[in-house]
Amino acid sequence: MNSHNLKIINFHDLEAVSYPIIKILGNVEVAFCQKESSGKVLLTLNGIEYSTNLRDNVFKFLIELHNSKNEITVSYCCDALNLTIQYVPKDLLNTVIPLYVICEGHDGCFQAPLKERNDPESACKRIMLCLKLLQCVTAEKLYEHDLGRKTFQIEDNCQIFKSSVNYLDAQEMNQVQLWQNIGKDIISNFSGSKNKKYLAFLSCTKYCGEQYIDDMKTHEELLEITKGYVALGGGNLALFGTASLFTWPEQFDDVINRFEDMTPIDRTQFLDDSCYRGTVGACFSTTLGSVLHELYHTFDLGHSKDGIMGRGFDNIGKVFTNSQMCKSFSFHNKIEFKEQLSTCSLKDVEKSIKKDFTVIRRTEEVDDTLLTKSCAVLLSFHRWFNNYPNQSSHLSFDSSNKVVKSTAGVRVVEIRQVDDELILYSWVFVSKVLKFSFQIPEDVLNELNNQNLIILVEDSVGCILKEEFVA
Ligand SMILES: [Zn+2]
Ligand SMILES: [Zn+2]
Repeated sequence: MNSHNLKIINFHDLEAVSYPIIKILGNVEVAFCQKESSGKVLLTLNGIEYSTNLRDNVFKFLIELHNSKNEITVSYCCDALNLTIQYVPKDLLNTVIPLYVICEGHDGCFQAPLKERNDPESACKRIMLCLKLLQCVTAEKLYEHDLGRKTFQIEDNCQIFKSSVNYLDAQEMNQVQLWQNIGKDIISNFSGSKNKKYLAFLSCTKYCGEQYIDDMKTHEELLEITKGYVALGGGNLALFGTASLFTWPEQFDDVINRFEDMTPIDRTQFLDDSCYRGTVGACFSTTLGSVLHELYHTFDLGHSKDGIMGRGFDNIGKVFTNSQMCKSFSFHNKIEFKEQLSTCSLKDVEKSIKKDFTVIRRTEEVDDTLLTKSCAVLLSFHRWFNNYPNQSSHLSFDSSNKVVKSTAGVRVVEIRQVDDELILYSWVFVSKVLKFSFQIPEDVLNELNNQNLIILVEDSVGCILKEEFVA
């Protein structure tokens, strides 16, 4: 036995998680063996058997846990191991509420091919399932940074929200207008909701395929013939259109197949939001990644040059699948990423300004979907990832001598550009020995040369200070 050195890389026995869908990563040695092997790795969970292929001796399983104890057996050829994982949802004060927004006069059905269900119930199933995938990605990313498997908590159900905004009016609005108007409507309906963030999907997004002509090459041109398109997050609301919701699976068992689905998107009927890859799987991956990017903005993250908070979210499917997804960016290594981002609160909506953001994408890495260190640390101490009952702190920034102070201990300091919140410099302090003050180093200030910038600081109890200053 144990002739293949079968190992689970990312979990140990008796580990507990606070979210239901987990990724199990492992490896084996494909050594000579007396037994005739099928070449597949098998996993049994609560009586259900899954199987997967090896890729460079590595295997991945995506599994859905039951409440409390989950007995897992993994086997390959003559080798096997057992693993128990506990699933215990965390009772966090601050949560994310998924919403499916149906505007006045709209039937609530999202655009989809005939073979796909597209009623509000189906929409809610897809949204809930895919949010659980994003909980899993987040936990794995923090784990990769040695920050433990922390993640945000979602409410038990996706709620249907009937907006008083008429759907024909909504279809004429631009992204910022949608975010403002739908946002106002949501906030006024959920009073006393400072502990909630809303992740809302708009049912009435409509891609006008009859206006599509073969000359249309860029994503921007396709968006011009899409009514009610939005992907925007900030404050307490992230809002999305539903032109690609049909590419999201409804059932857990379909997740991997969907990511690997090479069916081309028919541009005469549906929005191809796949970062120029043109398949259902790529569309699912790109739009799921963009939801994570916008959700992270509501958790106060800025932009990074690379990774999820840059434009490195298109291959989020690779976090889950063990296959090589279609090669991306072979013809388009320069991606214009235009996002109208806003970080003001919904009460300050009138102040929000349209901003553009351009990133030149570099060579693709094998390990895609990167979360930079300061982003990961910011999330790991964030109030949507932890309960800090009755803990308060005094957090300050002295703009004359450039010193940050927190009575609870400083965890993250970032210097961001004003126009697009691109993180230029960052410092993180994760050790048990607390850092009560931090001064921006002289050489950094010299480099920044009197620019108007943003400083963002987070401390040990999730207090956040964000203000403009002159370097
Ligand atoms: Zn064997
Ligand atoms: Zn952004």
